[in-house]
Amino acid sequence: MTTASDLDSIRESVKQLCENYGEDYWLALDRSRGYPTEFVKELTESGFLTVLIPEEYGGAGLGVVEASVVMEQVCRSGAHAGACHAQMYVMGSVLRHGSEAQKQYYLPKIAAGELRLQSFGVTEPTTGTDTTSLKTFARRDGDDYVVNGQKVWISRIEHSDLMVLLARTTPKDQTKKKTEGLSAFIVDVGASVGKGLTIKPIDSMINHHSCELFFDDLRIPAANLLGKEGEGFKVILDGMNAERILIAAECVGDGRYFVDKASKYATEREVFGRPIGMNQGVQFPIARCYADIEAAWLMVEKAAKMFDAGLPCGAEANMAKMLASEASWRAGDVCMQTHGGFAFAKEYHIERKFRETRLYQIAPISTNLILSFVAEHVLKMPRSF
Ligand SMILES: Cc1cc2nc3c(=O)[nH]c(=O)nc-3n(C[C@H](O)[C@H](O)[C@H](O)COP(=O)(O)OP(=O)(O)OC[C@H]3O[C@@H](n4cnc5c(N)ncnc54)[C@H](O)[C@@H]3O)c2cc1C
Repeated sequence: MTTASDLDSIRESVKQLCENYGEDYWLALDRSRGYPTEFVKELTESGFLTVLIPEEYGGAGLGVVEASVVMEQVCRSGAHAGACHAQMYVMGSVLRHGSEAQKQYYLPKIAAGELRLQSFGVTEPTTGTDTTSLKTFARRDGDDYVVNGQKVWISRIEHSDLMVLLARTTPKDQTKKKTEGLSAFIVDVGASVGKGLTIKPIDSMINHHSCELFFDDLRIPAANLLGKEGEGFKVILDGMNAERILIAAECVGDGRYFVDKASKYATEREVFGRPIGMNQGVQFPIARCYADIEAAWLMVEKAAKMFDAGLPCGAEANMAKMLASEASWRAGDVCMQTHGGFAFAKEYHIERKFRETRLYQIAPISTNLILSFVAEHVLKMPRSF
């Protein structure tokens, strides 16, 4: 079992690694829409990006508790974790639902950094959060599936060798339950581009490398089906709790970054002949953000421990994501306010992190949908949709 001091040493090692990639590195990538190739390589080679891959497949074989500490520290250091976080949890779909042959083939290569599995294709432009209504269709044809449809906001695909794709294999109106008839596939991105897959980058607010995808008779070998045909929703759903917890950990990292920056600046910046932090109007909001962030971390830890113990943790994972994303956003706002006009100067880096942390109240699941989950499944109130 990992002890508190083991977690401290993971945190310290990740901190040292991140020091090689200062905030100017991230700002330059943000400006150029570049990908942090060197950072992802080092994070993979050091074993931190592969913490969740079992040792028998070449990973560190640790849990979401340890992975949360990695992602929290990456974000606290000023980095943009969006370039790599998905690999941690998308890999879980292969681990839990892949055939032994798929696991033996993919997982060691992912662990060694030879293959990147950074991309998952779920969201569609016309159906959004209503996942089971998605329209991309995979029709069985001999030893292949033939895919037609469209996806939107699919991140990192230009920098990923593989994508886990969710498509319908049975029309929704021919299934007993709306969650049936969906299937998950491992897509070889390089082999698909120009042969039925078109990728179009989206010019967006943050450097998340998000794209639109167009499928036009893309052939995927049937051997790339992940889990059973028609049970793809379960494949995707299974990874979602880990995803929520890791993103919550990132938000806590962002929040601590903002609180660190704000309290330091409030102590150093002098206006009217004294540090601005002597004014309670400046210091109280920062102190409140600190309290909110630390409370959110307790929920992250609780959810991560439950996940690693194999306990149902949907409510805790979702609540952690909601509380942490709201707390980090408030901390970003207070950090902006504390820095006054300088907050807008890119060289201070705050505006970049402010933009980046805003995402997590919307993706991968928006706050309303989490509240709806808690209302219906925890508090047993009537179903709203
Ligand atoms: C930068 C970025 C990266 C992304 N990366 C990926 C990726 O890699 N792969 C992927 O598959 N997706 C990705 N997404 C998509 C993301 O998961 C969705 O944007 C998100 O789930 C919300 O879906 P939507 O945008 O279609 O919003 P909609 O579903 O259209 O919802 C819009 C708003 O309405 C609210 N709403 C909708 N229905 C209800 C209801 N019944 N009750 C109350 N409120 C409701 C929502 O809460 C939301 O605030 C990414 C998105 C972004 C912005």
